[in-house]
Amino acid sequence: MSNNASDSTSEKQKKYYEQNREIICKKKRKHFNCACGGRYKYSNKARHLKTKKHQKYLKEKVVVEKMMREIITEIVNNVINHL
Ligand SMILES: [Zn+2]
Repeated sequence: MSNNASDSTSEKQKKYYEQNREIICKKKRKHFNCACGGRYKYSNKARHLKTKKHQKYLKEKVVVEKMMREIITEIVNNVINHL
């Protein structure tokens, strides 16, 4: 009985994999446009994240976000002061 249950589970998994194999393969081959302006393949994402281009983007992103926060804080303070 219990053997049958596990058999049908693995059958289902096999069917699921068969049905989705093409989708999974396509997903792996797909190219992604990264926010840094670069492109990477699904399977190369981890490698791309370590590239100089991406690292440079991350550094700049942090600087820009810091600047944005300072600007917003200044604007908010100005508005509060003029209330
Ligand atoms: Zn990137």
